[in-house]
Amino acid sequence: MELGDKLELLAAAARYDASCASSGSSRRAYGGLGAARPTGVCHSWTGDGRCVSLLKVLYSNACRKDCAYCANRVSIDQARASFSVEELVRLTIGFYRRNYIEGLFLSSGIFADPDIVMDRLIEVAKTLRERERFGGYIHLKAIPGCGNKLIEKAGLYADRLSANIELPTASSLARLAPQKSGAEILGAMRFIGQAEAASKEDRNRFRGRRGAPPPFAPAGQSTQLVVGASPDDDKTIVRLAAALYGRLGLRRVYYSAFIPVSADPRLPVLRSPPLLREHRLYQADWLLRFYGYKPEEILGEGESNLPTDIDPKTAWALRHPEFFPVDVDRAEYYELLRVPGIGVTGAGRIISTRRESRLRPEDLPRMGIAMKRARWFLASGGRPLFSVGVAPSPSALDPFRLRILLADAPKGMAACGPSPASAVPQLEFSFG
Ligand code: SF4
Repeated sequence: MELGDKLELLAAAARYDASCASSGSSRRAYGGLGAARPTGVCHSWTGDGRCVSLLKVLYSNACRKDCAYCANRVSIDQARASFSVEELVRLTIGFYRRNYIEGLFLSSGIFADPDIVMDRLIEVAKTLRERERFGGYIHLKAIPGCGNKLIEKAGLYADRLSANIELPTASSLARLAPQKSGAEILGAMRFIGQAEAASKEDRNRFRGRRGAPPPFAPAGQSTQLVVGASPDDDKTIVRLAAALYGRLGLRRVYYSAFIPVSADPRLPVLRSPPLLREHRLYQADWLLRFYGYKPEEILGEGESNLPTDIDPKTAWALRHPEFFPVDVDRAEYYELLRVPGIGVTGAGRIISTRRESRLRPEDLPRMGIAMKRARWFLASGGRPLFSVGVAPSPSALDPFRLRILLADAPKGMAACGPSPASAVPQLEFSFG
């Protein structure tokens, strides 16, 4: 198979991995220099907030396993191909020199023993780093079941490692991906977390001195969860994500709306991928990571799924009228973050402005506060902001009215049906 055809096939096969959002380009070079193929280049965010474009491909789309939700499962009759180490190195360096990409995202089907697959991925990264002196971003998939020594080696060449947990409960994994082992996936994650911590400690000992050992996966580890392929509810997913952040030190959990790629009686029949559910889970994830919410606060008592009509932060605010109004002149940083319409930047600006001068309500929009939402939950000078300029109404804070007013179902996203009430609500994976 020609290298260009291989690239097309193996970049398309990688597009279901949500670790970075795909944005293929179809630029043509009419008499100019360079041309982009409409495959393979996607964007990802680094830890310091920069957006980097990556060549996102599989080493091979051949796989011995038969996970029901996967486009590369062994039982699908389709063209299969594998790169050689040399081909991938050439492609990466060629794309980098032409300014198409800043890095490589490399995953693979399990075409052989996990040690062999992991070794090939490492070989690509090693050749890029050592022979080609490539300093760009490299994200490698950690292949569950491979030896820890190989993961240790991978972390020396990769900026980020990821082992995909895919399904939120052991029972769903057993049903939809019976050849995968939850224990092996979590084992790989735990080992990466330990190696990362040990590397930081080692390097700290050399602070300010020469001779520090190279960092292990300095951008940390991430994972992906497929949403909607199994009956697991949002409560289970949110609790699992919180445990992955808290106990295994993951930097990011990615949520990928299930896209049916093959018929399988074990899979649900969906009219469209549950994109709104995926969106709400990202919002909930944001609350866990940056807003100081505990997993049990994200959903209300007796709720199994996030609401579709409003975001989870507004839902929390409407469930807790006793918390509001928050006084913009006195509230602490994390109290401000509980106000719908105030984000991390806005809360920081309010705190720093208050140190220097008296805050006026009319200053708030300039600080990035979305007053359309925030005004219902804020007070200033002892007076609720929603009553400024209007006749105070005793029913202004009625949660039912506010819910309708603040509803924001994103356009173009299909609301998914709630998971069955019988879905398993407890955390099944053991982090012991
Ligand atoms: S092991 Fe990975 S590539 Fe293979 S079928 Fe399962 S999800 Fe797909």
